Amino acid sequence: MSQALWFDPSLVLIGGEWLSSATGKTLALKNPSDGSEICRIARGETWDVDAAVNAAQSARDGDWGRMTAFERGRILSRLSRLVSERVDELAQLEAVDVGKPLTQAKADAVALARYCEFYGGAADKVMGQTIPYLDGYTVYTLREPHGVTGHIVPWNYPMQIIGRSVGAALAMGNACVLKPAEEACLTALAFAHLALEAGLPAGALNVVTGLGAEAGAALSSHPGVNHISFTGSVETGALVQQSAGRNVVPVTLELGGKSPQLVFDDADLDAALPFLVNAGIQNAGQTCSASSRILVQRGVYDKVKSNMAEAYEQLTVGPALQDLRIGPLISDRQKEIVSNFLKIGSDLTIAAQGQIVSGAPDSGAYVKPTLYCDVPSDHVLARDEIFGPVQVLIPFDTEKQALTIANSTEYGLVASIWTANGARQMRLAKRLRSGQIFINNYGAGGGVELPFGGVGKSGHGREKGFEALYGFSQLKTVAAFHG
Ligand code: NAD
Repeated sequence: MSQALWFDPSLVLIGGEWLSSATGKTLALKNPSDGSEICRIARGETWDVDAAVNAAQSARDGDWGRMTAFERGRILSRLSRLVSERVDELAQLEAVDVGKPLTQAKADAVALARYCEFYGGAADKVMGQTIPYLDGYTVYTLREPHGVTGHIVPWNYPMQIIGRSVGAALAMGNACVLKPAEEACLTALAFAHLALEAGLPAGALNVVTGLGAEAGAALSSHPGVNHISFTGSVETGALVQQSAGRNVVPVTLELGGKSPQLVFDDADLDAALPFLVNAGIQNAGQTCSASSRILVQRGVYDKVKSNMAEAYEQLTVGPALQDLRIGPLISDRQKEIVSNFLKIGSDLTIAAQGQIVSGAPDSGAYVKPTLYCDVPSDHVLARDEIFGPVQVLIPFDTEKQALTIANSTEYGLVASIWTANGARQMRLAKRLRSGQIFINNYGAGGGVELPFGGVGKSGHGREKGFEALYGFSQLKTVAAFHG
C-alpha cells in the first residue's frame, strides 16, 4: 500500500466488535498490479458465520429491529456522507485490491455513496396497499424485512455490489451478514467501519472475510439466514441456491452475461463508438454486464470495425495506480482463464489489440485487450463469458438475424440497440431476452435507480432501484373483520 491502512484488515466484524477469526487463521490479500501481498485478512469459517448470524438475529430482535424506517434512512444518509468524504481513500483501497484504475475505482466509491443516499431516502417510502374485499373487512398489506440477510459478494465491483445489496437490505430493516470475496475485501471492511461511525447499531451489519468454500458455504447453508443475495459465477450461484433451498430460503442470483450491442445501418456511429468499446473493457472486462458481443449490420460493419480497431490500438494496460484505461486482471488464475480463451480464439481474425505499458511488472496479471472480427455466432468466444478485455464483432444482415444471434446464448443480462428507427427500438426491446435493455446507450453496471438482474443463466431476482426494496422484504396480508 502506498499509504497505511486506517483499519485492521485482519479482523471480522461481529455484533459491533472487531475480532480475530475463531481459529486465528488468516489469508494473504494480493495486489494484482504486481502480485505483492497487501496484508493478511481473517479466514473466517463456520464458527465466525454462526456468531455473525446470531449477532444479526439479536440486532433484529433488538435496537435495529425496533428502529423506525426514517431512522434507518437517516443512518444510511449519514453513511452516504461519510463515504463521500472518503471517496479518494476508498478508491485507493479498491485500486490496490482489485487492480482497478483509480478513475474507475473512484467512480465505484461515488456510486457507493449514491446507493446509500438513494436507499437512505427510500427507506421510509415503501408502503403497503389497502385491498377492496368483502363487506365488513379492511384488508391491507405490510412490507416486512426478511430478518437476517446473507450477502455473498465477488471481487469485481465490491463497493457497487455492497451498496446495492447491503444498502437496500438495511433500508428495509434486515440485519446483514456480508461475505466479501477472498481476492478483494478492503473496501467491504472500510465500509463496515464507516457504517458503525454513521451510527448503525451493533449487529445490523456483520462482515466475515474468508474463503468461498468455507465462510461462503457456511453462510449460504445457515438455517438462521432468511434471504441470500449472491453475485458471482454461475457454478457457485447454483451451489448457493441449492444449499439455501434446503432451508427454503429465497435467493437473488446476479450471475454472468454475454451481453450484446446491436448496431444497425442507421445508427449514430459517433455516439455509439465510446459505448461499444468501453462496455467491453471497463474494469478489464471483468464486469457481469460487460458487452462482449458487438453485432453489426453489414452496411456499417467495416466502418464500425475500423473505428473500434483504432480505439483498441490506443488502449493501454498497466498498474492500477497509473490510472490507464485498463488495469490488471484480479489474479493469475483469472489471467489463465482469459489466456485460455485467447488460445481458443487462435482460429479467429484479430482486428486490433491494445498494449501493455512498458515497465508493467511481470508479476502483475496483465493481458492485452483484444478485438476479434468476423466471428461466427456459434464460436466459443461468441457464446461463453470470458471475464476479460475481449470483444467479438459479429456481422448480420437482417433484424431477424440479429435478434436470433442476440438471443442465442444461455445468458440474458443487458442488451443495447443502436438505431434511429423507433419501431425497431420498441420491437427489439420487447423481443430481446435480457433483464435490461438500453436504446442508443449502454450502461454497464450503471444506474443506481435502475432495476438490474438477469434471465436464464444470468440469474434471477432484481437488485438496484426501488425494486430491490421489494426483493429485500416480504409481503404480509392483514384481513381485519369488523362487521
Ligand atoms: P465465485 O462465484 O467463485 O465467487 C463469488 C463469491 O462467492 C465470492 O465471495 C466467493 O468467496 C463466494 N463463494 C465461492 N464459493 C462458494 C461456495 N461454495 N459457497 C458460497 N460462496 C462461495 O466467482 P470467482 O471465483 O470470484 O470468479 C469466477 C467467475 O465468476 C469469473 O470468471 C466470472 O465469470 C464470474 N464472476 C461473475 C461476477 C458477476 O458480477 N456476475 C463477479 C465475479 C465473478
